[in-house]
Amino acid sequence: MLGAKTFPLHLLTPGFVSVSPLKIGTYPTPIERVDGNLWIKRDDLVSPIYGGNKVRKLERLLADAEAQGKRRIVTIGAAGSHHVLATTVFGTKAGFEVEAVLVPQQGTDHARANLRAALALGVKPIIAASWDVAPALLRGDGYRVPLGGSSVVGSLGYVDAAHELREQVRAGVMPEPDAIVVALGSGGTAAGLAVGLAGLKTRVIGIAVSSPLRLVEAMARRLVRKLVQETKLSSELVPNLEVDRRWLGRGYGYATREGDHATARASRFGIPVDVTYTAKAFAAAQAIAAEAPEQTILFWHTLSSAPVMPDLPPLPAEYERLFK
Ligand SMILES: *Cc1c(COP(=O)(O)O)cnc(C)c1O
Repeated sequence: MLGAKTFPLHLLTPGFVSVSPLKIGTYPTPIERVDGNLWIKRDDLVSPIYGGNKVRKLERLLADAEAQGKRRIVTIGAAGSHHVLATTVFGTKAGFEVEAVLVPQQGTDHARANLRAALALGVKPIIAASWDVAPALLRGDGYRVPLGGSSVVGSLGYVDAAHELREQVRAGVMPEPDAIVVALGSGGTAAGLAVGLAGLKTRVIGIAVSSPLRLVEAMARRLVRKLVQETKLSSELVPNLEVDRRWLGRGYGYATREGDHATARASRFGIPVDVTYTAKAFAAAQAIAAEAPEQTILFWHTLSSAPVMPDLPPLPAEYERLFK
């Protein structure tokens, strides 16, 4: 059980609370039953301004930047990524200048809208021709936020989230899950959850949505190892992270048939999903729940369901080359 009586809480005593996180989100985020044995953790509702899984990471990253006396955030991401938009939304709100190295990606209306919103909110863009040359364009002594916000510090936001889930299970909001299914891009979300839930029966299944698959999995596992050190997790407790490689299709940002079907089913439950991450992860969650009807499966929602900014100006022509 996940309850206080059996869970060796003292083994998880965090060694990382020296900088307390910035307060951005509203917690705990709701848990709902979707259908049968499938449940959903609604991190899409974490903030009415902009939700999704980047919020918990930014609470820690921005606090760390502040503690280091930085005034500028420097990051990198796909041109229309949620990461660049979320960092712009909350970074500028906290008074930082936000600079982002932008890399071309598959062009969808959603990705374009993300970039239009980030530009409208004042991101300082640096256009990179490709992922290969992008890191060299990160410059200056600003606070560096890596891809997806998945540094050790950022990923601690999802160790926090695992603790939140444990409390909700203890309070009877849902039964202890056998597995959490979550999209895996840069890995911080899945790695943080796996470390935060170490010692429990709950497996974390990361649905790989970017490639090369071998590298993505290796990055996530490396993050798990670093988080284990950072949180001073007892060696008795082994984080349980599985990576499911079956749902990627042609690659990051490309639709899949399974994802399209899952999008239609999710909308019947009132759950908005996106092509890149959550359509694929929701397809996986439904399949995993159907394969094991006796198990409790928790789909961890990572997309923002906050309304997009109205009246966004059109994308200036010079940014069109960021979308293939
Ligand atoms: C960034 C993102 C992810 C991936 O999270 P990682 O921590 O980078 O693995 C998943 N879903 C959505 C909607 C995202 O924006």
